[in-house]
Amino acid sequence: MSKKDNKDRRELTRMMHLGRAPEEYFGIVNPPISRTSTILFPSLADYEDKDRKFRYARMGNPLSDKFECAVAEIENGYAAISTPSGLTSISTTLLAFLKTGDHLLISDSLYPPARSFCENILARFGVEVEYYDPLIGAGIAEKIKDNTAVIYMESPGSATFEIQDVPAITKVAKAHNIITVADNSWAAGILFKPLNHGVDISLQSATKYIGGHSDINLGVAVARTPELYTRLKKSALDIGVCAGAEDLYLALRGLRTLHLRLQQCARNAMIVAEWLQTCEEVQRIYFPALPGDSNHALWKRDFSGTNGVLSFLLRPASKARVSAFVNGLELFPVGSSWGGYESLLQPQYLNTCRTAVPWVQDGALLRLQIGLEDPQDLIDDLSQAFTKFNQET
Ligand SMILES: *Cc1c(COP(=O)(O)O)cnc(C)c1O
Repeated sequence: MSKKDNKDRRELTRMMHLGRAPEEYFGIVNPPISRTSTILFPSLADYEDKDRKFRYARMGNPLSDKFECAVAEIENGYAAISTPSGLTSISTTLLAFLKTGDHLLISDSLYPPARSFCENILARFGVEVEYYDPLIGAGIAEKIKDNTAVIYMESPGSATFEIQDVPAITKVAKAHNIITVADNSWAAGILFKPLNHGVDISLQSATKYIGGHSDINLGVAVARTPELYTRLKKSALDIGVCAGAEDLYLALRGLRTLHLRLQQCARNAMIVAEWLQTCEEVQRIYFPALPGDSNHALWKRDFSGTNGVLSFLLRPASKARVSAFVNGLELFPVGSSWGGYESLLQPQYLNTCRTAVPWVQDGALLRLQIGLEDPQDLIDDLSQAFTKFNQET
């Protein structure tokens, strides 16, 4: 009898086996770090053989191949590229599918540095960049022009976690032959599968949950079909992006505990979010998994779970009070990023980066990355910092 294919097993089991090949490495469990640039050819005929899998490390090597195959399998795609950061997975993808004169539609809740790439680089090369309301859904049809080439989504959106109606948007895009791209960092490839909903390219910052330990920068973009992959890979080759060996190794290792870490962060974040709901210092919480969140219904329809990132709006207060709160926290240092094992806080300044739906809320917006600590300690810490907030004037 032939052996069962890993693809026919359940996801938790598949996660332990994908991107591995002990038989290629003397039985070693994890594919070793292949530190290389040059790859040698035994003969001229081998060098001229265009079908050789690995020619030069930047173009693809055993370790990048393992990681890319693993994430492509997780996201139900055809194949993937890996890049040295999440942001380069975005830039490489957009450069693959856009040219001068094209119109690009982007969700207003986009990760702000990606916004900067579109406004500074793409616009300079003559791409017309337009933002749309992340809650637009099928209404995207009204934004489409003759030259619309790409619709870019990020669901949930950065900082405020708007859930986009991805199936409704891809349906409109397909009718107009428009490429769709989704930033799937929040879901880590696990909690949501954009390609199953018709998205063409699903990309993510593997820096976040896949890495999971705040010690790598890495990106990955998965193409739905061979044709899309050819264009994506060509862009990566022409630009010259390639991921570092250590980062690829750590990312592959991160995949083995990804579900476990996501589950624990989700549980902790829900406990903290429910407690924040009882705090009079908090005006509003942004966390789609909370039944009261305005995005809860769509989240429930399309997502299989939540991660551990949430934002909340402090009630309007002096800068001194906000500082007393933020500086008073002991378990939430201020820092960018999320998806690591440790909790963090990052202030958000949306009045400087939302244009389709201008930010009008009063009060400081703070994003929490809830880590793997005991949630009661996190609550105790937030509670004592709220006391400092209230004592300040
Ligand atoms: C962090 C982040 C990125 C960029 O990832 P880097 O690895 O820091 O370049 C892209 N998209 C989203 C949604 C992110 O949160």
